[in-house]
Amino acid sequence: MAVPKRKTSKMRKRSRRANWKTALPTLTECSQCHQPKLGHRACPTCGYYDGEKVIAVASDKKKEKKTKEEKAEKQEKKTEKKQEKKPEKKLESKGREKGD
Ligand SMILES: [Zn+2]
Repeated sequence: MAVPKRKTSKMRKRSRRANWKTALPTLTECSQCHQPKLGHRACPTCGYYDGEKVIAVASDKKKEKKTKEEKAEKQEKKTEKKQEKKPEKKLESKGREKGD
């Protein structure tokens, strides 16, 4: 393993790090919704890349929520039916208690 001949002085280290700079990411305009987006990435606003819908976006989730609510309503109806059936099962189990 290569070993440095001398310790890097505080000044040398600090003057090297003084040249670290942040750079702004290069933004391009989305061809679908004309919002700024990162190059070579799907648009976070509309979810399109190269003219095709690639990812689901927050605006799509609103549509999904409606379908989920419908599903939840269906499940509630099912659970209501199950609750009606459950007391009958309990009665059956009570009949088995202590036959001896
Ligand atoms: Zn877009």
